[in-house]
Amino acid sequence: MTTAVTRPDPPAHSAAHSVPPARVLLLTADTGGGHRASTEALREELAHRYGAQVTSVALDPLTGPAAPRPVAGIARLYGPLVRHAPFVWGPLFHGTDIGPVRRLLSALVTRAVRRPLAEAFAHHDPDVVAVLHPLLVAPATAARRGHHARVVSVVTDLGRPHGTWWHPDADHLVAPRPGLARKAAGASRPTAGEHLFGLPVRRQFTDPGVSLERDRARRRLGLDPGRFVVMVNGGGEGSRGTGRWARALVTGPADVDVLVVCGRNERLRRRLARLTPPAGRRLIVTGFVDDMAARMSAADVLVTKAGPGIIAEAAALGLPLLVAGHLPGQEAGNREHVVRAGAGLAVDSTRDLAAAAGRLRADPVLLHRLREGARRAGRPDAAALTTDLIMTLAKEVR
Ligand code: UDP
Repeated sequence: MTTAVTRPDPPAHSAAHSVPPARVLLLTADTGGGHRASTEALREELAHRYGAQVTSVALDPLTGPAAPRPVAGIARLYGPLVRHAPFVWGPLFHGTDIGPVRRLLSALVTRAVRRPLAEAFAHHDPDVVAVLHPLLVAPATAARRGHHARVVSVVTDLGRPHGTWWHPDADHLVAPRPGLARKAAGASRPTAGEHLFGLPVRRQFTDPGVSLERDRARRRLGLDPGRFVVMVNGGGEGSRGTGRWARALVTGPADVDVLVVCGRNERLRRRLARLTPPAGRRLIVTGFVDDMAARMSAADVLVTKAGPGIIAEAAALGLPLLVAGHLPGQEAGNREHVVRAGAGLAVDSTRDLAAAAGRLRADPVLLHRLREGARRAGRPDAAALTTDLIMTLAKEVR
């Protein structure tokens, strides 16, 4: 079953309405930056398109204030893990995606977060629950038993999503790209309605009224419009590799300016801030920022790990990627996805990275081709389509 969704343009909300607002609960977790960014994307888009017709609230029962302490203790290990021992993540990811282990994990998490979810249902009485973290799909379907709410799983992984995104009791699933076979993801039974809308990105990446064109973005950061600018980011946690990539570019042979966003990795930020670039080159280092689109708009190319969120955002802006690493497990297929789409190049070593940056600097035709590839791969309407689905479902159950 697929619910027909049309994208009203201009936005659907009108000043005059008498029905009480639809209620949407967004379930997410701050493991990395991608789940939170897509959650924000849906909140913004619901408010933009539907105004007073909807109220939405986000709940993080894994790492947020509502999380039971033992759960938060385990979930918060994600950051240190991807920074210091990402190789552990692959076996963990694949091991927990084997049928019985996956079911056991789902049952354990469902039990562990039952209380905050029950409280959220009692308090917000949602019409739709949109789930933006794979470990929360099973708990959401359990929490809505006997309740009218519809459950939508919004997959925020690209290449090889974990099977927990697919749950037989979820009503709908929003997928980021075609060809994501649930079998490959290890799920045994289908979710009812599947929609290929793309990965929701925030309005700063899609709204011409908010986004900055290149020269303005550079002026804002004090960067010279004539220089070649490489931005470096290793996801929300500032994953392993980010420091190495940044150093190789700052001190490497290619004459480039470097913009590094370290995310929540404060130690990395402090270390890189001490680097002195060669004369004539600029280095800007920041911690976690909320204006990623403005920074990415200032860059000619983005060096990153194969995070689904940043890939979708770069594509929405038409910014070419140099994919220099990936988290084993769910990010394994993302680098091929970028290369196949013609949206960027993959590099295997830090030396290759410096060489690839130099090559792009020297080859405007190649850079232009990658920019076009990125643009073609972009799904800037993903958040709008997903919120339209949510509102269609909310109207169905009211
Ligand atoms: N991000 C951000 N500010 C930062 C660093 C990262 O908003 O300082 C966002 C970035 O724009 C993207 C997300 O964090 O939306 C990273 O998601 P991705 O899926 O690429 O990797 P993750 O951090 O989830 O592993």
